[in-house]
Amino acid sequence: MQLLRQIPPIHELLKDERIQASFQNGQISYEQTKKLIHEGIEQIREQILNNNQAHSFTRDEIRNQIVETTILLVAQYKMYNLQPVINGTGTILHTNLGRARIAPKAVKRVVDMAKSYSTLEYDLHTGRRGSRQDLIESYITELTGAEAAIVVNNNAAAVYMVLSAFTQNTETIVSRGELVEIGGSFRVSSIMEESGTKLKEVGTTNKTHLFDYEQAINENTKMIMKVHTSNFYISGFTSSVERNALAHLAQQNNLIYYEDLGSGLLYDLQQTGISDEPVVRTVLDEGAGLVSFSVDKLLGGPQAGIIAGKKKYIDQLKKHQLARVLRVDKMTYAALEETLRLTRMGEVDEIPTLHDLLKSQKQIIEDVQSLLESSRNVQNLKIEQCETESKVGGGTLPEVKLKSYGIKVSSRLLTARSLSELFRKHIKPIIVRIEQGKVLVDFRTVQTEEQEEILKAIKAIDTQLK
Ligand SMILES: *Cc1c(COP(=O)(O)O)cnc(C)c1O
Repeated sequence: MQLLRQIPPIHELLKDERIQASFQNGQISYEQTKKLIHEGIEQIREQILNNNQAHSFTRDEIRNQIVETTILLVAQYKMYNLQPVINGTGTILHTNLGRARIAPKAVKRVVDMAKSYSTLEYDLHTGRRGSRQDLIESYITELTGAEAAIVVNNNAAAVYMVLSAFTQNTETIVSRGELVEIGGSFRVSSIMEESGTKLKEVGTTNKTHLFDYEQAINENTKMIMKVHTSNFYISGFTSSVERNALAHLAQQNNLIYYEDLGSGLLYDLQQTGISDEPVVRTVLDEGAGLVSFSVDKLLGGPQAGIIAGKKKYIDQLKKHQLARVLRVDKMTYAALEETLRLTRMGEVDEIPTLHDLLKSQKQIIEDVQSLLESSRNVQNLKIEQCETESKVGGGTLPEVKLKSYGIKVSSRLLTARSLSELFRKHIKPIIVRIEQGKVLVDFRTVQTEEQEEILKAIKAIDTQLK
């Protein structure tokens, strides 16, 4: 191919002023520089080989294309892969966007503990080795009434550990309906099987009765497990009767009764009218021997999982090899301890997840109106206030719809999809929803400080459309 021969060699491209400028102050090694130019060359080669239009490229055009591509690649290379974004979706625990934001006070503790040596496994009283598990156990026992507790990497790890430790090669009875519910979004059922337990599924997808459990019990049964995924049970039966009955059945047959709560509520949402999901304390009071839950769901902490319940079980877990495999680091403990302290003091408004969940409609409307006020001069975008519904997310409280407000943005010149892309490509990316052909930003999950950035994005897009 004649054209391929027109591609300048790397050593020549390395001298290009534009390329050199893009590498400077980027602290990119010579080797990496060459690699990125090489990638730029590869891209044009492919274009020439696959694309008919490329036939008309002149030598200069080829060179320019490589330079432009390389500059883009350099910019990408310099960028962080993990970036903060503005969540305009209204989904508070957005799994793709990192679930819970942790409290500023918890962030401070993380920074302090990360920078410094700490008492992670050191007992200041005795001057001897301590246990990291002791760091937060007392908070959890106080907040939930559990006899003991342990922290692991996440709730999926907690489920895996409980099943591995207690039910390997024995049977765990679980309702088929609950497994179906979690199948799609969590794949926790695969993790359960991976643990070595034999899952004995009972009932049908929409109805499981006490006698289904009773009939499934045999000499190889070790555990009855209940998985919380939605209000399926709560709407079908009264949950407390169901739990009492299952716990009683387990006790009669010398089985462990374990509930995977998903999002362990420590703060009672019943008083707010948002949800009648039971708090962890209630679940334990009503007879669960073990429970596990995520820390970065409604607890609003860092990624971790907590297993709580009877001391005889937790002691066994603490000694289990998996405790080492699944243990969490000091930064997680730092953030978790502060989150639990805030919960203990009733200062849940300082926990962003709960703050967003409990945010008043008045506050949200005020934020929306203040943005509308400041974007009055915008010409090529239409911005309207709108009413919407936020979700809790993270597989948590799926039945709950929170009334909220936001803005709808549209333009005669752009599709909603293209517009959403412009928001996403803003220097501080803004993730939006698309509804009825318009971009929607739900202000429930937008922090007051972030409105400034949304305004900037709107103005920048508006200017771009001129
Ligand atoms: C979220 C959830 C899990 C997984 O928890 P992670 O902390 O994400 O590992 C397991 N079970 C249920 C019911 C859940 O809702």
